[in-house]
Amino acid sequence: MQPISCRNCGNRVLVEKYSNEHTSVQWLSDAESACPEFSRRAALGESSREIPTCPSLRQSIDEQAYEGALALSLRSYPTPGRLD
Ligand SMILES: [Zn+2]
Repeated sequence: MQPISCRNCGNRVLVEKYSNEHTSVQWLSDAESACPEFSRRAALGESSREIPTCPSLRQSIDEQAYEGALALSLRSYPTPGRLD
């Protein structure tokens, strides 16, 4: 997995991209404290389990994949990631 930062809130997650439609995201910290989008929606009463993901994070992943910073994984299962 590769570390990716949300360009909106700076939250870092580990991402493994298998295909354009299949991306696996591993949160390194509690989503509600790490991401303002999650904390805002949690404050409105939504459970973080009901929130699919932060839209800016989603977009950051797509952009960085497009820019070539995120290579497609040839593996069929996630491997443990690590921050530098
Ligand atoms: Zn975010």
